Amino acid sequence: IDFIQRLPKAELHAHLNGSIPVPALLELFKEYESSFDIENTNHKLSPTEILAGINQLQNLDLSSLHGFFGPFAAVYALTATREATVKITRAVLSQFLDGDLPQCSYLELRTTPRESESMTRLEYVCAVLEEVERYPKEKAGLILSLDRRMKPEVIQQCVELAKSLREEGRRVVGIDLCGDPLAGDMSKLGPYISLAKSAGLGVTLHIAETKDNPPEESLKLLAYKPDRLGHATFLDDEALEIVLKEKICVELCLTSNLLCKTVDSLEAHHIRFYLKHDHPIAVCTDDVLPFRNSLLAEYALLMAQAPLGLGLSEGEVARIAEMSMQSSFSRR
Ligand code: IMP
Repeated sequence: IDFIQRLPKAELHAHLNGSIPVPALLELFKEYESSFDIENTNHKLSPTEILAGINQLQNLDLSSLHGFFGPFAAVYALTATREATVKITRAVLSQFLDGDLPQCSYLELRTTPRESESMTRLEYVCAVLEEVERYPKEKAGLILSLDRRMKPEVIQQCVELAKSLREEGRRVVGIDLCGDPLAGDMSKLGPYISLAKSAGLGVTLHIAETKDNPPEESLKLLAYKPDRLGHATFLDDEALEIVLKEKICVELCLTSNLLCKTVDSLEAHHIRFYLKHDHPIAVCTDDVLPFRNSLLAEYALLMAQAPLGLGLSEGEVARIAEMSMQSSFSRR
């Protein structure tokens, strides 16, 4: 653990609302429960419904990744105010960067700009940004996620938000495409991605997360020339050739893939393909709230002997950590 901890490494794929430490979430739940008022428009779910949702999220029993996204409504019910957003962002940043066992040297946190009864998207993003900016820029940056379920006009609004904040010198370093992997039409994203790139924002896209994502969709996403890819589990040979040729960094989340059953075992994990080709990768956590993992534990999986882990040497693990640092958007 000492070796893993000392390695300079970057967490590049962590979703804010999926990474809330349990004590912080419980605190919000207690506040919500004690002030619950059915007439309050911010109180969309009852405390019982929220507990059931969180329980479902933490005890994943997925027959398909599709079922993963619904239970997030329970988390969102607790984080719908500015105050709650500040609290969870502070807790997530601290979980990765502070204390005796910091998980990483640099955290590129991502979140979907959302609006609620009490916050506009701009207010939400600014609440998150203010917390991110309490750390030096070598330590933390923010990516704004576009949810595949968003309407085009909302995607445009979010990219314009990212662009204008960046132009004001705020710490927005990139955009992401995330959400239910089978939702939305990915052929219309081109102009928004170009707009983001014109502002110098990094682009990372969740791609081929399930076996039901058609190969044409992956080729379409690759044609947008992303800087990084999330998961990239089911790319076909044509897509893989592009990824290798263009040296696009792949953010890999081992525990997430195993628990969501998109990969059967570490033995079968696509990380082996990228290691074989000495291709840039970043090992990441994805969502520590449902997956109950940590970045140090993901690195421990790299080192542990088979069948528990990949049995990589210290040198190989150090190289992976180095690649994660080199692939961050903070250098742009
Ligand atoms: P947020 O963007 O801070 O609200 O973080 C939670 C959101 O991230 C979820 O509602 C999903 O849209 C997205 N997300 C979390 N994990 C995954 C994943 O594995 N694939 C695609 N989207 C994800």
